[in-house]
Amino acid sequence: MCGIFGAFDVDHASKEIYLALHAQQHRAKESAGMVVSDNGKFYRYAGPGIVQNVFSYSALNNLPGRIGVGHIRYSTVEDNPQLDNTQPIVADYHNDKVAIAHNGNLTNVGKLYHNLNSPNLLTSMDTELILRLFCLTEGNSLMECVKKSLTKVQGTYTLLFLLPDCLIAVRDPSGNRPLSLGKRGKSWFVSSETCAFDMLEIDFVRDIEPGEILIISQKGLESDKLCLPSVPLARCIFEQIYYGLPASLIFEEYASEFRKRLGCKLEEVCPVIGGQAVMSIPDSANFIAEGYASSGRSGKLSSGILRSHYIGRTFLEPTQAQRELKVKRKFQLVKPEIVGKSIVLVDDSIVRLNTMPSIVRMIRGAKAKEVHVRIACPPITHPCYYGIDMPTTTELAAATMTIEEMRTKIDADSLEFLPLEELQKLSPDIGYCYACMNGEYPIPIG
Ligand code: SF4
Repeated sequence: MCGIFGAFDVDHASKEIYLALHAQQHRAKESAGMVVSDNGKFYRYAGPGIVQNVFSYSALNNLPGRIGVGHIRYSTVEDNPQLDNTQPIVADYHNDKVAIAHNGNLTNVGKLYHNLNSPNLLTSMDTELILRLFCLTEGNSLMECVKKSLTKVQGTYTLLFLLPDCLIAVRDPSGNRPLSLGKRGKSWFVSSETCAFDMLEIDFVRDIEPGEILIISQKGLESDKLCLPSVPLARCIFEQIYYGLPASLIFEEYASEFRKRLGCKLEEVCPVIGGQAVMSIPDSANFIAEGYASSGRSGKLSSGILRSHYIGRTFLEPTQAQRELKVKRKFQLVKPEIVGKSIVLVDDSIVRLNTMPSIVRMIRGAKAKEVHVRIACPPITHPCYYGIDMPTTTELAAATMTIEEMRTKIDADSLEFLPLEELQKLSPDIGYCYACMNGEYPIPIG
């Protein structure tokens, strides 16, 4: 999963892009980069790591120009370490340059590569195939070139193209990843998440529509639709449940509000009668737990688990012992909230089941009377091919164990998941993808 941001007609665009990427840092931490255009001359800067470590003050000062695109990356396919897989990527385009930033995952990479006559690629990213297609496509207008170049591309994408004097935003017809348009004065902005707009005091205008191409230039906005066979809307439900910042307006609803509704529904369907303290696994489940506790029937909301913000995610630790240590460093318990109580632990999802056993063990060690676990996302039984880093089927806990086996493994008194049909009732009209929960892939693979 990645994050993208574009700025058009802005004083010192690089500084705004820097802040916007920083606001979306939760989406990706592997690398960060940006390309700006200063009167047609392109400047690129990118590197591994988080935004604040990649860009120094002097680096930003050496990135002049009023238009630019930025990217933060988390790879979902194995990278070739010999290649520079940072984005945006730049290529020659007629007598000019073009840069591209991409969030999503193409599902027909082999065919595209073949259609391009197996070129020597400079990266191992599917994004480069889109860029090459674009550069080879002839047309009577820029809009026509974008349309034609994407006719053979299949999968999920939000794209930003930077040309010397314009910015182009594209969202695939399924609308799988979010992309929004903002405005401040005469300046235009495009962002994966609206939390970047809030930081920069940019007004949210609207979402880029599924299948829309939007060209932003000094002539104004020009919008058209991709010419592709219709596909069902397939917005990634995981953006709402977990990935998006609660402060972001995602698919027409703030993620915070969605998560509270999700928590209410979870409690309605999977209550813990006699529960005393409802605790989120912070921070991603905070709003879900708030919703879960709102009726009061299954216990009161409690901040019994605190999270240290000085270490990263836990699921990449190689051994169970190391993971346990990391969980202890990551979470601190507030014992008076736990001792002698029936605890309801609320989390957004279970993927590998690496972290939950350690958390339950810590809570039991703090003398809880009972530990009940409630999960807001139905069991994840299938991999994601659309840009979210999910393990293979054999590593997915719910694909290889029954719920009772998972309960035994985490040593909880009870474990329940929100059923898929209840999740689907929450937003019946939005058109979500649930493929990792039901194996029904709405966008063809391969
Ligand atoms: Fe999102 Fe799951 Fe669909 Fe992937 S398969 S896009 S993670 S809902």
